[in-house]
Amino acid sequence: MQSSQGQGDLHETVGAYALGILDDAEATEFEAHLATCEWCGQQLDELAGMEPMLAALADLPGTRGTPAIGETLAVRPSPQLSDRLVGEVVERRVKAKKSRRLFFGLAASLIIGGPIAAIAATGGGDTAQEAKPLASVSPAKQAFAGMDDKVEATDAATQVNAAVGTVSKPYGTGIALQLKNVKGPQKCSLVAVSKSGERETATTWTVPKWGYGIKGAATELARNPLYLQGAVAMSNADIDHFEVVTFDGDKLVEVDA
Ligand SMILES: [Zn+2]
Repeated sequence: MQSSQGQGDLHETVGAYALGILDDAEATEFEAHLATCEWCGQQLDELAGMEPMLAALADLPGTRGTPAIGETLAVRPSPQLSDRLVGEVVERRVKAKKSRRLFFGLAASLIIGGPIAAIAATGGGDTAQEAKPLASVSPAKQAFAGMDDKVEATDAATQVNAAVGTVSKPYGTGIALQLKNVKGPQKCSLVAVSKSGERETATTWTVPKWGYGIKGAATELARNPLYLQGAVAMSNADIDHFEVVTFDGDKLVEVDA
C-alpha cells in the first residue's frame, strides 16, 4: 500500500464504503477501484456482516479507536484492521452530514448484533466492562469451576477421565461432571452410588463419534471436555462413589467421593 499513495488512500476507503457513508462521487471512485482490487473485494466480503459493529464502535462515546472494545466482540476483525476502520469511520462521520442519520439506522440493526448491542445500550463508559462475550462458557462448565468439592479419576483400562464436583442442596446433591478422553458413539450415565449401595442417575448423555476431551484431536469440538450438570436426591454425605457407565452396562470410570 505504500508503493502508491493514491491507491493506498482508496484501499482505506473500504470501511466507509461498507457503511454507505461515502458521498456519490467518492462511492463511484471507490467502485471503480473495487472492480480491479482483489484486496478491497475481500475486505468488503469480510465487512459485509460487520457494519453494525463498526457503526457501534464509531458511535460509542469515549471508545473511539480503543482496541479493548473490539476485543470483547465475538466476531472481530484483526486489531489493526479494527483500529483503522474505526478511525476511518469516525473521521468520515465528522465529514459527512448524512452519516448521523445512517448511523442511527445502523444502530437499530444492532438488535441482531449480539454482545455489542449490550455495550451500545449502556452508552459505553464503565458499564461497557460488564458486557462480556456471551455463550462462550457453558453453564455446566461454570458450575463445575465454581464447585470447591471435587474428585477425579482416570480408569486404567479405558483411560476415560472424570472429575465430579458436588454441592449440598436442600433437595439433595448438585453435581457437575467434567469428562475427558471418551470416544463415541455411545450413550452414557453418571450414577451416584450411596454407602448402602443405592444407585441414582444424576444425568445421561450421548457421546458423538468424535468424542470429548481427546488430546491432540483435529477439531476443538473433540478436544474440549464435556461438561454436564445434574442432581441426585441422596445427600452429599451418603455418596460413596460415582460411576460413568454406558447404556450397554460397561463401566467407563469410577470416582471415589
Ligand atoms: Zn483496494
